[in-house]
Amino acid sequence: MVTAAPQDQWRLLDVAEHDAKLAQLAHRSRTLPEHADLERVAGRLSRLADDLVVARTRATDASRDLTRAEGDVEVVRQRALRDRARLDAGQGAPKELQALQHEIESLAQRQSVLEDAELEVMERLEGAQAAVATLDAERERLEAERAEITARRDAALAAVDDEVAAVGRARADAVAGLPADLIALYEKIRASSGTGAARLRGRRCEGCRIELTAVELGRLRGAAEDAVLRCEECDRILVRTPDSGL
Ligand SMILES: [Zn+2]
Repeated sequence: MVTAAPQDQWRLLDVAEHDAKLAQLAHRSRTLPEHADLERVAGRLSRLADDLVVARTRATDASRDLTRAEGDVEVVRQRALRDRARLDAGQGAPKELQALQHEIESLAQRQSVLEDAELEVMERLEGAQAAVATLDAERERLEAERAEITARRDAALAAVDDEVAAVGRARADAVAGLPADLIALYEKIRASSGTGAARLRGRRCEGCRIELTAVELGRLRGAAEDAVLRCEECDRILVRTPDSGL
């Protein structure tokens, strides 16, 4: 049976207060709004990367199609130039020259159709390049936003760390000099219920907030001053103070 002077039991309440504060700080670290913001930005960046792959593929395809379309136009243009040169030279039978004339006309039509197709591919390429540029700009914007949120998160975490260190020092001061068996019991309870000790105030355990029964109060009234009491409901060390209502 652990026993401890009332003063030591009161100091245990200080330790419990520091532990509650440390738990709050740990919770704050875990639930910083920056964590959720970073996840949101990361999700958007990931979707954007997928969109960029699609857009870049479209631009590459259009670029390749344009090269081919330009080649097609060039073939027809060269052929027409050759025909024109032969026609201008005026060599050959009239029938041949007439056939050349005819081919030049149909080549001109063909070139016109191919140039229209080339123009369409050009427009497709411009559209694809514009889409890539837009997505790239959005990616840069999101990356800047991510850097800014990361800096804010790191600053917030550093501030919490400073507080944790200060509370940790205060806790160490509160623990120093307390009987080892009392602290060991406190730690054992804390490991399972979060806090190891609670104040009894106005007949209520401040750990579980449950009001003690008359029978229980009677038991506590009869207990020795240095007895280390436990709450029947939450098992915490129940510390008596002048305002316990006993
Ligand atoms: Zn309790």
